[in-house]
Amino acid sequence: AKVAGKSCYRFYSRAMDQAVERRVRMEQDLRGAWERGELSLVYQPIYRLGDGQLVGAEALLRWQHPEQGSIAPSVFIDVAEQSGLIETIGPQVLRAACDDAMRWHTQFPRGKDLFVSVNVSPRQLRSGELPEQVVATLRDTGLPPPQLHIELTETAVIGDEVHASALLARLRSNGVKVWLDDFGTGFSGLSHLRRVPVDGVKIDRSFVSDVLRDPDDLALTTAIIAMAHSLGITVIAEGVEKEGQYAILRERGCDLAQGYWLGHPVGAQEFSGLLA
Ligand code: C2E
Ligand code: CA
Ligand code: CA
Ligand code: CA
Repeated sequence: AKVAGKSCYRFYSRAMDQAVERRVRMEQDLRGAWERGELSLVYQPIYRLGDGQLVGAEALLRWQHPEQGSIAPSVFIDVAEQSGLIETIGPQVLRAACDDAMRWHTQFPRGKDLFVSVNVSPRQLRSGELPEQVVATLRDTGLPPPQLHIELTETAVIGDEVHASALLARLRSNGVKVWLDDFGTGFSGLSHLRRVPVDGVKIDRSFVSDVLRDPDDLALTTAIIAMAHSLGITVIAEGVEKEGQYAILRERGCDLAQGYWLGHPVGAQEFSGLLA
């Protein structure tokens, strides 16, 4: 029994070693990936529900690994977050997104007021350097502050609300808009809005996807919209995949929407085509 136990242990430990090894290798590969041109941004259009106008774009990071091909952000962002690499990649993403938005701003009449929405990870917020990075990036690129939106998940804010609130207040005092991403997935979501200063919430895809067939999800979505509006907060729905979802969200007074039905994420060049 002792021998079996030992080999059993060795089996699990080897599986664990492999998982650790994969992460370590991914971390090594990710180092310098931006400089090698393997990382790039795609942009998903965001529309105003009232009049169907294109008003903004969410920047989403893509990694084309030289051997493994495209790797999902849900996988490599986590590695970047755990390893601390996000503190290098995050500012590069911010800079590139503001550069692209500034190009749309100057080159296209329809891009003049377009905002770009950039995802910021919990670690980036916790480092405390975000407000300075944002100010420096806006100064260097010339993008008007209201045209930069920062997306944070509830998890970035929860636990350290005092610190987070102070950082968000500094961002907003510069004119940048702050959005709470994946809203509704954390149970404490609603009560947070009273303490954490944000300009908007993004209703999580899991609610939007069920809004036509699950009365609870429709009720919750409607409640989120009403409550946000009563606090002067804008609401965006993400993951709109069907015309019916779009229609019902519009009927319930949701402000903005994005999703495959409206438009997939595309490269900066292709996005320009929407503005021409
Ligand atoms: P997220 O911020 O919630 O981004 C929305 C995700 O939903 C994106 O996945 C987008 O491609 C996808 N999506 C958009 N419309 C639809 C739809 O109609 N249906 C469905 N099923 N999906 C839709 P993506 O690009 O794979 O990104 C996954 C996550 O990775 C993001 O979730 C975000 O948390 C993270 N991420 C992506 N880029 C960055 C970045 O530059 N920095 C940081 N910190 N995180 C990022
Ligand atoms: Ca997001
Ligand atoms: Ca989201
Ligand atoms: Ca449901």
